[in-house]
Amino acid sequence: MDAPQGFRRSWLHWFTCPSCAHRSFFSYSAGRLGPDGKTIAVDYWCASCGCLCTLKDQWRLPAITLLCSLALFVSLYWLMIDGLGKPNVVWVLLWIACAVVGVNALLFLIGRFTNQYVATNRSEP
Ligand SMILES: [Zn+2]
Repeated sequence: MDAPQGFRRSWLHWFTCPSCAHRSFFSYSAGRLGPDGKTIAVDYWCASCGCLCTLKDQWRLPAITLLCSLALFVSLYWLMIDGLGKPNVVWVLLWIACAVVGVNALLFLIGRFTNQYVATNRSEP
């Protein structure tokens, strides 16, 4: 089954379908304007049954992402200040790569246990 137009695949984003309990390490998502025309709601599409759903608490994912990004910025800033004065820049690059991979893994693990989806009443776009 092909994803509906406008939906894109996100890797390492835990998805559990509320209708058929399909689980996946990636999700298909698309943003749309809310009913008031000011907010943006993110819809998720199930590749197994084709139903549309949304995150139960839509504020949680951007809030956690913002917190992890701030932690990544602080740690990278600290690494740059601490490591650039030393002659071995390879270690700095290695630690930066470890920090980026670590934050992505942390975001996936947090999403694995906090992302809860609810079915929407809207039909497929
Ligand atoms: Zn499903």
